[in-house]
Amino acid sequence: MTEPQSVFRFAPSPNGELHLGHAYSALLNLKIARASDGKMLLRIEDIDTVRCTPQLEKQMFEDLEWIGFEWDELPRRQSEHFDDYREALFQLEQMELIYASSMSRSEIKQRVAELEVSGTPWPRDPDGTLLYPGTERQQSQSARKPLNETFGHHVIRLDMAKTVEQQRGNLSWEETIGVSPNNTRSIPADPLVWGDVILARRDTPTSYHLSCIVDDAKQNITHIVRGQDLYHSTSVHRLLQELLGLSAPLYHHHELVLDKTGKKLSKSDRDTSLRQLRQSGTSKEQILKMIGFE
Ligand code: GLU
Repeated sequence: MTEPQSVFRFAPSPNGELHLGHAYSALLNLKIARASDGKMLLRIEDIDTVRCTPQLEKQMFEDLEWIGFEWDELPRRQSEHFDDYREALFQLEQMELIYASSMSRSEIKQRVAELEVSGTPWPRDPDGTLLYPGTERQQSQSARKPLNETFGHHVIRLDMAKTVEQQRGNLSWEETIGVSPNNTRSIPADPLVWGDVILARRDTPTSYHLSCIVDDAKQNITHIVRGQDLYHSTSVHRLLQELLGLSAPLYHHHELVLDKTGKKLSKSDRDTSLRQLRQSGTSKEQILKMIGFE
């Protein structure tokens, strides 16, 4: 029997100019996909329809083509699939695992400041955001408003403690060591460190975590190759996959391309933007050399 074809994806957000780190991630995906006769897909993560503009998307395509990234099917654009993410939310509502939250960021900060009066610092998630203090989670299930009344008006959060408690068996993911898909180790997932993650916002009817796992399943992704900065997010992704009955891909979190000071690259830094580099005369070959692809 022949092995099923492996499917990879590169999933940039066109909310700024692509930088050297995107070039590295895209080309690493492509290299591993081609080496395993796999399929390479492109997904446009544009759920933030204000910051992701058609102009930035057009530039993104130009930059990707310029550095030699290729993809095998029409790209999937997340802003065209909000119904898919809503369907997943309704499934989670059926399981009584989500609730509406109306506290703003500043209200959360204020509540945390009150809680910190005792002297113990309030925990933050792996991205450095204060954990939601749980104020609106306390409502009994019958007092919770149904999703179709709150969706679009409130933030929708996952009741993390309840979800993890209900979760049977060990939750983990398979991380490939190096880039060989055959050499993996099991990493225990720890979604509790994220607290009650946001699954949909007021202005965006989904979130990165939700749309990412729904689309990885819709696109039948078997191998996820992405930066180390998303390593901890995988705990949330694995939990959501289990809840929604979606299969788990293999993961490889690669090293990040850093700037001269050792910091993670940012889309606002003009010096590492592919567009800026190209406009200032840097050749494709020089870029490939800079990121170790010669
Ligand atoms: N859209 C994310 C980013 O640009 C990548 C998400 C992923 O690979 O899971 O950082």
